[in-house]
Amino acid sequence: MFRSEIVRRHTRQAIVGGVVVGGGAPVVVQAMTNTDTADVEATVKQTYELWEAGAEMVRITVNSAEAAAAVADIRARLDALACPVPLIGDFHFNGHKLLAAYPDCAAALSKYRINPGNVGKGSRRDEQFAQMIEFALRYGKPVRIGVNWGSLDQAVLARLMDENAGRAKPWDADAVMREALITSALESAGQAVALGMSRDDIVLSCKVSHMQDLIAVYRELARRCDYALHLGLTEAGMGVKGIVSSAAALAVLLQEGIGDTIRISLTPKPGEARTQEVVVAQELLQSMGLRAFTPQVTACPGCGRTTSTVFQELARDIQDYLRQQMPVWRSRYPGVENLKVAVMGCVVNGPGESKLADVGISLPGTGEVPVAPVYVDGERYVTLKGDAIAVEFQSLVNEYVEARYGLGEKLKPREPRTIAVKPIA
Ligand code: SF4
Repeated sequence: MFRSEIVRRHTRQAIVGGVVVGGGAPVVVQAMTNTDTADVEATVKQTYELWEAGAEMVRITVNSAEAAAAVADIRARLDALACPVPLIGDFHFNGHKLLAAYPDCAAALSKYRINPGNVGKGSRRDEQFAQMIEFALRYGKPVRIGVNWGSLDQAVLARLMDENAGRAKPWDADAVMREALITSALESAGQAVALGMSRDDIVLSCKVSHMQDLIAVYRELARRCDYALHLGLTEAGMGVKGIVSSAAALAVLLQEGIGDTIRISLTPKPGEARTQEVVVAQELLQSMGLRAFTPQVTACPGCGRTTSTVFQELARDIQDYLRQQMPVWRSRYPGVENLKVAVMGCVVNGPGESKLADVGISLPGTGEVPVAPVYVDGERYVTLKGDAIAVEFQSLVNEYVEARYGLGEKLKPREPRTIAVKPIA
């Protein structure tokens, strides 16, 4: 009665290199490389890392002859690494020329991203857009018509501003911009359909960099069409700011059933892994109950009852450990992504939260007996003490995973007992 349900919006369904987008399929996680695509080795490496982290489609920039010439080689090398992740070509300004000059590139990509604001000016715009759609039809590829606030089709904007000036009560400038984004996407999609493209093969996006604008634009876009939609807050920024603003904006839309594929456009801090955007996208979808990617760790925030950093370190280590195992566990232990682990800091909420998890540990708080009861499937299973609680807890989690997801059994119940763990030599 009190449960909140997400009812996904009905959309058409695109198939992107075997990955289903829209039509009620699970929301797909996309990522984008920041390597020079002409650098085959670097692009293969980063694409592989993004895929290994969980990206289900990876977009690469195709901005030059050198980049276009590299695409087929990148595809071949990924295939040799048994990495089937679909590659999406991100085209601007010269996509029509590159697709014509590099047929291997056109064939190797699984989708073309076309920005209607960057395909050409004046009369050349329609001609060059049509050429790109014709290549998509020739090679049997879906397209994303991706409009962006920063590169909005100026002809559409000028037309809508003229129309607005004639209104008895003109809209404000932001409203005209939002309408121009939507109009540009829908009119371009209409042109693609008129050229023979199936509506199923068209994914739309209208990216802006402010969350309230993004929400308003996508709500209206979803109301006016049934194309599959790609969501993303463009230029979200760096670190906590980028994560929070992306998650806040996308969560509102996803909660309303809007969005078939997402990308978190984070600016990595110097030295930070590009895969962070994949982790954030997965965490967003998993915390909303839309997908399950990796076991979840419930950890209390800690407070004055926690005496040391042991609890924080254990929560961090077990979370990192579980994520690191997923490339192997995903195929070896089907369903393990639904595992729930709890790491709690004291007896106040520790036992209760641990019992609700599949495997939970309640560490001793200030003034408590220095033992850590472990709960498995809601029952007290064992009590740990000593200097190597973290190691023993991790091996218990491994045992649980092997029993439940490997053998399909419950971890054998044992009499409650205490293990005094010996420190590692
Ligand atoms: S479980 Fe204990 S240590 Fe953790 S926040 Fe609650 S009272 Fe503090």
